[in-house]
Amino acid sequence: MRQHKLALCKHHFLEWVCDQTERNINKYKMFTKGDRVLVAVSGGKDSLALWDALNKLGYTTGGVYINLGISGDDQYSLKSQSLAEKFASDHNLVLHIVNIKSDYGKTIPEFSETNKRGKSKPCSVCGLLKRHTMNEIGSRKGYDVLVTGHNLDDEVSVLFNNVLGWQVDFLRRQSPLIPAKEGLIPKAKPFCRFYERETAAYAILANIEYIEDECPFSEGSTTIQNKELLNHLEHQRAGTKLAFYLKFLRAKKELFADLEDDKYTEALFSCPTCGQPTPKQGNCAFCRMVTRS
Ligand code: SF4
Ligand code: ZN
Repeated sequence: MRQHKLALCKHHFLEWVCDQTERNINKYKMFTKGDRVLVAVSGGKDSLALWDALNKLGYTTGGVYINLGISGDDQYSLKSQSLAEKFASDHNLVLHIVNIKSDYGKTIPEFSETNKRGKSKPCSVCGLLKRHTMNEIGSRKGYDVLVTGHNLDDEVSVLFNNVLGWQVDFLRRQSPLIPAKEGLIPKAKPFCRFYERETAAYAILANIEYIEDECPFSEGSTTIQNKELLNHLEHQRAGTKLAFYLKFLRAKKELFADLEDDKYTEALFSCPTCGQPTPKQGNCAFCRMVTRS
């Protein structure tokens, strides 16, 4: 690990990832051993590695897997679901499964075809469905926090994009922990300081079977383009990505210090159809999308 000037054997690397995960959880006050933690599982390396590390660290965890109905040449959703199920059963852990087609009537590609919001943009529909569903499962099943496997490369790619467009609202919200709000359970990213190659190495060394294919809709995405560019910078100067992220978190405290209490603490309304919080009166964006399609 050039950025840390550190080289470890298999045994010590696995231990190091778990130790650093615990450090991040404590540093950003994400949750404690007394909390019930819901892990958003995609069947990929990051989410399964995170679930494995949290389990080894002794946290009480369950998983949630959302079958998006995405097939492609490699049956993406079917394959990823079976790997998520295998991990859960091998470790004797609870996995909540949601199937978009049977629960809401359509797959992500179908929603994307018929919905204005998703026209040629399946990721926008997909993001909305995932956010809604995970919060709904987390609240209904009594979890204290939702965790996702976002790694440093994911965070830095989003940060880079938000800086390019000076998306002040997004910059303000980007954080290792998004605290709870009425009706919304907190969301945390315990892997936010690990490089993608570190989470991949952990998954391989811990013998975790994960889906290696990317979702077919991610092809050519801005996130992937940003990652390539940032990898180039990292290659020239080790530690660039980590420094960019950590310095942003530090700068953010000053940049947004006087704005802490305005619109993110505004009262939310309750959706009359699903009961979940929504920023405006009337049906939430999720219910509007499902009923209009
Ligand atoms: Fe959903 Fe887009 Fe991610 Fe595929 S790439 S899982 S469609 S958000
Ligand atoms: Zn609703």
